[in-house]
Amino acid sequence: MSQAAPRRTPAGSRTVPRGAADAAAVSLRLAAEHPGARTELDHRDAFELLVATVLSAQTTDARVNSLTPALFGRWPGPAALAAAPEEEVAALLRPLGMGPTRARRVVGLAAALLRDHGGVVPDDQAALEALPGVGRKTAHVVRGAWFGHELLAVDTHVGRLARRLGWTAATDPRAVEKDVVARVAADGAPGELTRLGLRLILHGRRVCTARAPRCEDCVLADLCPSAGAAA
Ligand code: SF4
Repeated sequence: MSQAAPRRTPAGSRTVPRGAADAAAVSLRLAAEHPGARTELDHRDAFELLVATVLSAQTTDARVNSLTPALFGRWPGPAALAAAPEEEVAALLRPLGMGPTRARRVVGLAAALLRDHGGVVPDDQAALEALPGVGRKTAHVVRGAWFGHELLAVDTHVGRLARRLGWTAATDPRAVEKDVVARVAADGAPGELTRLGLRLILHGRRVCTARAPRCEDCVLADLCPSAGAAA
């Protein structure tokens, strides 16, 4: 990307060169825009958050939220869900699509959690990733949102925003995470990785959408190297 004159940012007195957006300024702007950012998946405990996060793959949080009260009302907790007939769980989850697959995943997850951890969700990255259907992103969501760790959960929105903001060229989530964490540290941004991730997701859903980013309404437009050019 070509270098141009530095410019001032309204959020503070920092001056940054054109190119990658300044992570500290982005963080400040998004914090002002989404002050109470939290996961949009409804949950009452770590188990429900874990299951809801697994269910949210390839669907929306709103759709998951429309079904989890019935799911957890009928099979509350790991022991009940582990013993649930898969076909009945699949029927309940059918509106999400891939009902049988999703049912197999969450029943298997509950069974493994019961067998390996006595039904208690572990606050441990490796232990979570060892559970069926749980990857790095899901483990980060649970450990960040429930256990209070500062961890970036890279989903499709975070990856897209990070690329448009010039923080990474990577598409692999692990590489995106590494680049964004390094950028946040280099720019002296607040170490609120969990909230930064949640705010990037909200911004990606509401403003910087995949197909039609609304740069003209974006609070990051004067910082973003992709303003007006993203597609
Ligand atoms: S909406 Fe436009 S200006 Fe805002 S972050 Fe996305 S690409 Fe950049």
